[in-house]
Amino acid sequence: MDKIVSLCKRRGFLFQSSEIYGGVQGFWDYGPLGVDLKRNLKEAWWQDMICGHNELKQPAGAPSTYEMVGLDCTIIMHPQVWKNSGHYDLFHDHMVDCRESKKRYRFDQVRGREVTYQDRTIFVSTLAEAEQEEDDIRRRGMKFFKLRNKDADKITVGGESITIDKLDNTDNVLGPDAKTLGTLTEPREFNLMFKTTLGALGGEDDVTFLRPETAQGIFVNFKNVLDSSRVKVPFGIGQVGKSFRNEITPRNFTFRSREFEQMEIEFFCQPDQSQDWYRYWRDRRMNWYLSLGMGSESLIMREHDPEELAHYSVGTADIEYAFPFLPPGEFGELEGIAHRGDFDLRSHMEGKLDPATNPMTVELNEHGKPKYRGSGKDLTYRDEATNQKFIPHVIEPSAGADRGVLAFLCEAYTEDQQPDEKGNLQTRTVMKLHPRLAPVKAAVFPLVKKDGMPEIAQDLYGELKKHFNVFYDDKGAVGRRYRRQDEAGTPYCITIDGDTVSDQTVTIRDRDSLEQIRVKLDDVVDTLTKKIDG
Ligand code: ATP
Repeated sequence: MDKIVSLCKRRGFLFQSSEIYGGVQGFWDYGPLGVDLKRNLKEAWWQDMICGHNELKQPAGAPSTYEMVGLDCTIIMHPQVWKNSGHYDLFHDHMVDCRESKKRYRFDQVRGREVTYQDRTIFVSTLAEAEQEEDDIRRRGMKFFKLRNKDADKITVGGESITIDKLDNTDNVLGPDAKTLGTLTEPREFNLMFKTTLGALGGEDDVTFLRPETAQGIFVNFKNVLDSSRVKVPFGIGQVGKSFRNEITPRNFTFRSREFEQMEIEFFCQPDQSQDWYRYWRDRRMNWYLSLGMGSESLIMREHDPEELAHYSVGTADIEYAFPFLPPGEFGELEGIAHRGDFDLRSHMEGKLDPATNPMTVELNEHGKPKYRGSGKDLTYRDEATNQKFIPHVIEPSAGADRGVLAFLCEAYTEDQQPDEKGNLQTRTVMKLHPRLAPVKAAVFPLVKKDGMPEIAQDLYGELKKHFNVFYDDKGAVGRRYRRQDEAGTPYCITIDGDTVSDQTVTIRDRDSLEQIRVKLDDVVDTLTKKIDG
């Protein structure tokens, strides 16, 4: 992971936000290469899920044909949205404060192990990543027992690594930044939504939130979309946009950020077909990652156990990736696919439903009135063919663009041995990004800066720029230029050499196979288009 993080910074994929001021935790900026990688991921999603979807053809595994449309909603919405969505009451994590370090941690994310010296055992907790965990625990355990390096073998680090929420109490716990035991408070609830105020007065009534998910904008526009387009159930609405969560322990690079982007679909269908649609979307989304070059061994589909599900849901599955910062065998969520029943549309219509009731009824306050008022708008759907009126059920594939980028970066990072110009084997770092995702599609090199080569190369570069993001480089040995492009994930390098001047052909070198083919100058655009689109 350290190598990936350092390559991301060195080559301009990702920077820490406000770095010159020491950075701000949980916020990340995308550099010149990163911004294109992320755009390409979002565009691939938009193309494959929304605008490239053919509503006239029934896809394999789908119960019928269906339509897809897009939407772009605001980040700040009416505060009532978050009350009826459940985020206002339920969107919280348990956190503990450290009385000594004054830091705050998420209860289920602080890990640790037992450390024993002579006949005393304490529990040392840490936020270190899996690879450094044991070393950090040992180092802090020794410090606690005031031992020197030469006495390292006098302590034992035992037991399994577990999170502190699994302990009976935290009296014997050394907090991640503490020097004394038992400094962690009891866990408390903490709402993850960022609060903000509307207008200049800033009274309690003006309080609202930065959206913690893009989904709610889709639900509250359900009627608008139905009334303004000709879509019929089953259909989906997709949206890509920023979401904000005040995560207590943002970490693992961009995996848990406070500002991030989501790519979400709310798919509306007949209740009695919802199980089939759920299965369709679950498999479709898994295959999408595989089609963009994710290795099948790095990805798992984890179906939630029935007891983890709300009773109105027939299923939720997470697509998880083996992020290298996790211990071997562990996976982190990339995307969740949830069957949400009619919970969201009914809550926005009638008032927040109580998910614990069966069938669900509106949650009441102490006066027997709805705890949160609904919009009162009719969000039912009338099927013109059957004249049947119903509230559609919803399947929600919800993906994170930043987690997607991180997973594809991790998957792409490869070190191999390749011969240099003199035939000696050298370690090469290559980002094997799928050509659709690669920030730069091709680099153009004149072999030398003379004999008419730069002129041809610059003309070709200008022509290619009309179609793709390409890069021109005439500096240094050609081998060095290849290496730089390999690190940036550029799939093709085009070299203009002595033969080009006489026969109007160029070489195209493939980043992964290193195979070089000779192509006519006039055919370069077509050849690249075919290669990139596969
Ligand atoms: P987690 O359990 O990891 O906090 P979640 O189950 O709360 O995630 P969802 O609410 O299902 O996540 O959000 C859908 C997707 O949005 C996630 O699969 C993930 O890709 C992305 N996402 C959620 N929270 C974050 C975050 N803090 N930083 C980056 N991406 C996130």
